[in-house]
Amino acid sequence: MSTNNQSAPPEFLAKMAALLGEEFYQFAQSYGEETAVGLRVNTLKLSAADFSTLSPFALKAVGAHEPDGFLVTDESRPGSHPYHAAGLYYLQEPSAMVVGGFVDAQPGELVLDLAAAPGGKATHLAAAMQRRGLLVANDVHTGRARLLGENLERWGATNALITSAEPEHLAAQFGPIFDRVLVDAPCSGEGMFRKSGPFEWSKGMVLACSRRQTAVLHTAAQLVKPGGRLVYATCTFSPEEDEAVIARFLREFPQFELIDPPRFAGFGAGRPSWVDSSLADDNLQKCVRLWPHQFPGEGHFVAVMQRVDNVRPQGFWKPLGSKPPGRKELAVWRAFADEVLQTEFAEERLLLVNGRLYLLPELALETGKLHLIRYGLLLGEIRKGHFRPDHALALALKPEAVALSANFAADSDEIAAYWQGLDIANAGPDGWLLVSVDGFVLGWGKRVNGRLKNHYPRGLRWHRDWRKE
Ligand code: SAM
Repeated sequence: MSTNNQSAPPEFLAKMAALLGEEFYQFAQSYGEETAVGLRVNTLKLSAADFSTLSPFALKAVGAHEPDGFLVTDESRPGSHPYHAAGLYYLQEPSAMVVGGFVDAQPGELVLDLAAAPGGKATHLAAAMQRRGLLVANDVHTGRARLLGENLERWGATNALITSAEPEHLAAQFGPIFDRVLVDAPCSGEGMFRKSGPFEWSKGMVLACSRRQTAVLHTAAQLVKPGGRLVYATCTFSPEEDEAVIARFLREFPQFELIDPPRFAGFGAGRPSWVDSSLADDNLQKCVRLWPHQFPGEGHFVAVMQRVDNVRPQGFWKPLGSKPPGRKELAVWRAFADEVLQTEFAEERLLLVNGRLYLLPELALETGKLHLIRYGLLLGEIRKGHFRPDHALALALKPEAVALSANFAADSDEIAAYWQGLDIANAGPDGWLLVSVDGFVLGWGKRVNGRLKNHYPRGLRWHRDWRKE
């Protein structure tokens, strides 16, 4: 937990004072209060109840709106624990957890997260989808989209297509096919002042963000299927980026209506009176505002909309044509799978690209010229007749899915050494094995003559013994 007393620019506070009136006093006071560390449990790997039993951190349930979310109430640092590397949770501030809940993604659906990096909400959607259907997670910035890929990999999501594309290119490729589209819009980030202290902010910047948000949201509308859901969120308080964007959108797209989502303790309503009278509409109250003085989080704005027209869907997507591996590569994969794995992978979903073998999601779309970061699960690489399993495969498996595994306690010397990339002494039969921490997979190792060779990816290794952090 941390406090930040002089965190917001004075011009911003003056603007909020004018908007909030008497309520401003409580809002301003929240800037001297502690900010909560939140985490959301990865239900692809374990239940929230099991995590509370296992947790080395003191936890408090975040609230009825998010049964898998917790606040960390002691001084521990869950980002520096091997459980984090095993993908047991995502660090997420509590108001951001509300957004994923409102999307309400279902197993088997087609879901798009249009501005997804680094992946807080995308991991939430992936957990709700339980590896069924297809989650398209996009971020226009390629570096950030790669980080999104790493986070979804740690999460063990196997049904994701990760792209780095302009929203217009996605709209041109897919058309209105998605059951749910999330626009977690780039914004002026006023909700982050409390945590991060003052950063560049101006009224001009708020207006520039508002224009960009309008453009992204209007493109997003072209991707929602009739009857589908469109969720718009920001972590900022300025009505120019919140209610005004939604009011303008609804005027231009009458086929969308605001939904009144379930309200839980501390949820505030949208403020129609804060937008220009030409745009004001009482319906805007259906938007949700989360305020740091009313809710245990940094603040968010969320609008949940539904496409209510009934025209026939005219998406122009096609299922992905299969590009199965050749006979030789298939034989290499089968040899690895027979020796190492105790679980089946549908061979008709295998895709080989430049020596890399992927397992496509059960629902796979043709992607045309979109810039792809990852499609489905990267199983590994075939080089010179050998198969080398990828870290992504390890994190999607349970220890019992392989013939050999080595399990160690979180605070053991073995886990400290493995996480740093060191080899460890380990008796048993030779071969590829999964190294796990308290029963949750951390990565691959290969045992040779009683030594466990470390195959934990270099870029993810912890810099020193994590127990001394
Ligand atoms: N949803 C993310 C999460 O929960 O971790 C946070 C998203 S952040 C608020 C907004 C993202 O929008 C940034 O990662 C940024 O790179 C991306 N972005 C900026 N302009 C964009 C655009 N025109 N289209 C799509 N994404 C954009």
